[in-house]
Parts: sequence; C-alpha cells; structure tokens
Amino acid sequence: MPAIYSPPAEHPDLAATDRGLLRAVVEGQARLTPEQALDILNGMPLAELGRWADARCRAVHGNTYRTYVIDRNINYTNVCSAKCTFCAFRRDAVDHDSYTLEYQEIFDKIAELSDIGGTQILMQGGMNPDLPLDWYLELLNGIKERFPHIHIHAFSPPEFIEFVNFFDPPGSTLEDKIRWVMVRLREAGLDSLPGGGGEIFADAVRAKIGLGKCTAEAWLTCMYVAHSLGMFTSATMMFGHIEGLGDRVHHMRLVREWQDRALLEGGAQNPLDAGPGEPIATPSFGHYKAFISWPFQRENTPLGRLKEWGQDKGDSGEFPGDVVAKLDGSGTKADHPEFGRRLRMAGATQYLRTQALSRLMLDNIYSIGSSWVTMGPHIGQVGLKFGANDMGSVMMEENVVSSAGTTYCLNEPVLCKLIRDAGYIPSQRDNTYDVIRTHDGAQSPDLKVEDWSQHRASKLHTQNESEMAAENAATLTVSAGSRD
Ligand code: SF4
Repeated sequence: MPAIYSPPAEHPDLAATDRGLLRAVVEGQARLTPEQALDILNGMPLAELGRWADARCRAVHGNTYRTYVIDRNINYTNVCSAKCTFCAFRRDAVDHDSYTLEYQEIFDKIAELSDIGGTQILMQGGMNPDLPLDWYLELLNGIKERFPHIHIHAFSPPEFIEFVNFFDPPGSTLEDKIRWVMVRLREAGLDSLPGGGGEIFADAVRAKIGLGKCTAEAWLTCMYVAHSLGMFTSATMMFGHIEGLGDRVHHMRLVREWQDRALLEGGAQNPLDAGPGEPIATPSFGHYKAFISWPFQRENTPLGRLKEWGQDKGDSGEFPGDVVAKLDGSGTKADHPEFGRRLRMAGATQYLRTQALSRLMLDNIYSIGSSWVTMGPHIGQVGLKFGANDMGSVMMEENVVSSAGTTYCLNEPVLCKLIRDAGYIPSQRDNTYDVIRTHDGAQSPDLKVEDWSQHRASKLHTQNESEMAAENAATLTVSAGSRD
C-alpha cells in the first residue's frame, strides 16, 4: 500500500556531486536543493547525469515497460488575444487563415480517433474573445454525449485565465473566479488540464516572450484549482531561448512546491509509490501527473529572429539570461542590457541534460515525458535513458509546434520499435498513466511489420483541409512534444 505523501528532506550542506546524496535522491529519500540542481545542470558530465536520472527512473518505473498514449490534438481555434513571441500558430480574427472549428468538425475528428483505439483528446486553442462560455459548455456536452469513453484533456491555464477575463465570473479572487468557470466546464465533461503555457515561470523571461499571457502565479493557481477539484494535470517547460539555466531550475522548483501543496492538502498517497505497471491510486484531490519539457522551435516566430549569443561582435561574457536568472525568480531585465535580445538555443545535449535534471529534481512527479518531436525520434529514444518513462502521444494531428517548423512524426509501429529497441516493452497507457495494453506478443504493432520501408517519418501538420483529409485517411501518425 503506497504511503501517505511526505516530501523527502533536503541536505543543503552536501555537494551536488556527493554520491551518497545522489543515491538517496535515486531512492526517493532525499531532495535536491535548487542550488544543487543548478550545479548539476551546469557541471555534471552528460553521461553521469544520464546514469543518475536513469537510475531514478528505474527506481520509480522499473526496468520492463515504457509507455505512450494514443490521442488526438485538436486545436479548436487559432484566434488568440496574446502575442507570444515564440508562437507561429496564433492569428488575429481578421487574418485570412484564422479559423474556429465547427462542432461537427471536432466530432468528426474524435470519431476518427475512436475508430483507431484512441483514448483521449488534447484540446487547446488560442485565447479567442469571440467564444462565449456557452460555446465551450455545448462543445463539452456534445463530445461526452457522443464519446463517453474519450477522456477530454483540455484548456491550459492561459486559456482559463482568459476565460476569467472574457466571461467575468463572480468571485473576489482569481482563484474563486477560475473555480467558478472550471466547475462548470468540469460538469460539462472536462476531465483534466494540459500544462500548456508554462514556458518559463520567471517574471523577467515571461514578460519578454509571453506578451498578453498569464503570469506564473496565475498559471500555478489555475492548476491548483484543478487539483482541488480532483483533476489531474501536467506541467511543461519550454526552454532554450532567452532564459538562464537558473530559470529552468526555478521553474522546476515551483512545480515541485505546488505539487507538494496539492499532495499534502489532499492527504494523498505518494504518487511515485505505485509499482511499475500498476494503476495509480486515485485520491479525491488531484495533482500533476507528468512533466514534459522541450526546446524552443524558432522557425516562423518573432523570437526566433533574434541573434544567438556570441554572433554579435559586442557579445562578451556570460549569457545575459544566466546573469539575470535567480533561483527564487527575482531577476529583472535591468540586470543585463542585452537580456531578451539574444538567444541560446538548446541542442540535443542541453535537451537531455535538462530532461535528466527534471527527473532528479521533480521527486514528486510520476512521469517524465520524452519530448522527441523537436529533436527527432532517436534523440527522443535516447531520452528513455535520461530519465524519461514516456514517449508521449500517438496522435493524428498537431498544429502548434509544427507551425514553428517541427515536422517529425511517426506511426505507432515505429514508436513501439523505438521503445523496444531501447530495451523496454512498449505499452499503451491512458491519461492517468495506467497501462492499458502491453505489447509483448507477436501481435504487437511493431512486431507485425514485415517491411519497415513503409514506415518512414512523414510530415504531419497541414492546415489545408484537402491535405488534412487525405492525411487523416492515410495513416495514424505519432507526434510527441505537443503542448501537453
Ligand atoms: S502560444 Fe498560445 S497564448 Fe501565446 S500567442 Fe500562441 S496561441 Fe496565443
């Protein structure tokens, strides 16, 4: 029987490289301080960091299974009141290629998902001021009437904060107002919240890249309300742009602290104590189920047009983001004149380092997702050796990350093969991370394939209706790294 949750103790006097400390972290008996985490991110050799993260992952998830989910990403509108500089997806309502899907289009997409054994939709959109609350209630009711077996994972915190602004619900605090809206959406069929819009929590970074988007406090409060209503959520981080390494650690720290709050207030069992492959006990209070991080994709975005640090002859010294970043999030743009004007893109090494650190730092989060869509399937596969237990989504559609130039996508057999070739049995999970199908027999999607030349990666995203229809008819495709 899993124990009631109690956070592991910190040992601030120990060096980040102390093997006894790291062994205790692997066993869930000690917690890294933010300072130790930053030291690890800065200085631990990649292979060593990977070994510790892998050991921690195996302690939580065992050595046998690694998972994926079959879902469909439905972006119901691209009209958005915010102007995030990293976004290539948003449109103004007057733009020729703006859209809001009709209910029937959404139902048709879900029917296609259901036909191929999908279990959930991930439904997110821009923050569209023209859609009233009733539009969402009717949509959710309509989905649940037609597809009661499909889990609705929808509406990230920035959307909720704009719902509060658009709908002006009663309540004296932001929390009250979010709750008023969320209760109604939940009653209409909303099952859980995705962690989109997390980006980087530090105010200085957020003010530069998320124009018109909610604050970190509002984002975290929204998730807290969802948890208090018994809902599960995920948390995300988009890194590799203007932020410092300390900002990544601060971001993980806030996720960890608010997860503590949800688990402690809920009197929950430790969500990491379920045995590998066992269903996780469901408490009345929800919490974060997963953390997924991915590097910023620059194509077609205003942020992507910035120079990389070191490309201008005036660039010298520390990267501005590192100068500004503080582990308590208190840095300001005044701390460096070039802050927000230079990029430091993350390659495969930084991706793996950051993901591995998240496994060690987030000692109270069950699942770490490998967000391979931005780095390619094989780096994603390597991610399974750097702390990740989950390969993300087999989905039929993705419009947001792909708008910024990401085109990796695969079919289900290839995803299963990637997991199997990494040394694990691929297993389909549901939204609560319970395993619903293990592929250990001859009928496994990858083991049935005789000719792998028919299973190449192909471009997934298209906004063109005829292309989309042809694509949907053609194959089931896989894309992890969505804004889950
Ligand atoms: S990232 Fe989301 S909130 Fe920001 S502009 Fe794009 S659609 Fe809007």
